[in-house]
Amino acid sequence: MQQHIDSYDFKGKKAIVRVDFNVPLDENFNITDDTRIRAALPTLKKVLAEGGSLILMSHLGRPKGVTEKFSLKHIVNHVSECLGVPVQFAEDCQKADEQAAALKPGEVLMLENLRFYAEEEGKPRGLAEDATDEEKKEAKKAVKESQKEFVKKLASYADCYINDAFGTAHRAHASTALIAAYFPEDKMFGYLMEKEIKAIDNVLKNARRPFTAIIGGSKVSSKLAVLENLLGKVDNLIICGGMGYTFIKAEGGNIGDSLHEDDLIPQAQEIMTKAQELGVNVSLSVQTRVTQSFSNDAPEMVVPSHKIPDGWEGLDCGPASIENWGRIILASKTILWNGPAGVFEFPNFATGTEKIAELVAKATEHGAYSLVGGGDSVAAVTKMGFANKVSYVSTGGGAMLEAIEGKTLPGIAAIQE
Ligand code: AMP
Repeated sequence: MQQHIDSYDFKGKKAIVRVDFNVPLDENFNITDDTRIRAALPTLKKVLAEGGSLILMSHLGRPKGVTEKFSLKHIVNHVSECLGVPVQFAEDCQKADEQAAALKPGEVLMLENLRFYAEEEGKPRGLAEDATDEEKKEAKKAVKESQKEFVKKLASYADCYINDAFGTAHRAHASTALIAAYFPEDKMFGYLMEKEIKAIDNVLKNARRPFTAIIGGSKVSSKLAVLENLLGKVDNLIICGGMGYTFIKAEGGNIGDSLHEDDLIPQAQEIMTKAQELGVNVSLSVQTRVTQSFSNDAPEMVVPSHKIPDGWEGLDCGPASIENWGRIILASKTILWNGPAGVFEFPNFATGTEKIAELVAKATEHGAYSLVGGGDSVAAVTKMGFANKVSYVSTGGGAMLEAIEGKTLPGIAAIQE
């Protein structure tokens, strides 16, 4: 049965916590952005304040075995500073029995990178390039088999399990999903996970109407499942950014050399038809800022999005698009935003994305609930200084995207089961 962090008695208990400490490091192993560490602090401090001890486990990067560069030892001091207590380190996550057993209330032990072991992800490593299907199957079977022991060992260190790693909640890994089974009466979400789940529910289950989704970014292919799931839920669907051109082409528009995916035109048409059937208002860009080369300083002009001359490509939406979208956004009570409205990495073509951020912030100020999540839109709102002017900015890129697709995330299901 799932427990709640606020009512669980941590006194004298050891809590093993899956955190997402996959932070960026520079060449000298200094943390360049500690957002993920800070995001887990409320959960960690709660356990310590209640008289429990902590065993922290995380991955860092994508190592294919033990790799100095991806050692979590580089972040121990920073975690210790953030928590205000010393943090011990177990150099091998499978050999921490003694250190875990010796933990006293208020003490903290961090395990070395879980992904130093193939068992964490449950995927075979070191297979020859020319391995046969049979060999691949055997290797997979072997790693799945040894994964059981791997999980069992991690679980043996603690009395309860907390998952606070939303960033990896879409992965069915040993530490994110499988371990929960060892704590049938003592498993729970951390505060960060709770906030993320609530944010998803606020838009996908309990949206106040009108509900508007703003979906942008580069490729329709990566957002197809998102669009399909949202069609049955939203009142308005604003499709912006590079992916919008496939839809404009599907409507018979001339998009010049703009980014698009010809093979997805039938799906784009299907989405438009289905939207019409469901009474969803799909709003595409009506005006585009185009250039003749993909660069920040390229001379530009503003043209109707359906009449982009050959040799020109759209890098941002024009003011008339923003005016249309502004009316929709400001009238919304629930807003979900995923994906930028243009090539926002080029300051000269960040205007559309910035204006959308401004509009979402304004709607939020007027009482709308707004969730920004999944990939580059988070980077955009943060970069543009709007992160604290929307209701919630998700910490999980891929996890949030899969949640918006309507998928059940293994890390969430394992606690709720
Ligand atoms: P995604 O990861 O699918 O959310 O896409 C984000 C990327 O889409 C960003 O790197 C943007 O630069 C890119 N993008 C947005 N609009 C355009 C556009 N009109 N042409 C090319 N790339 C774009």
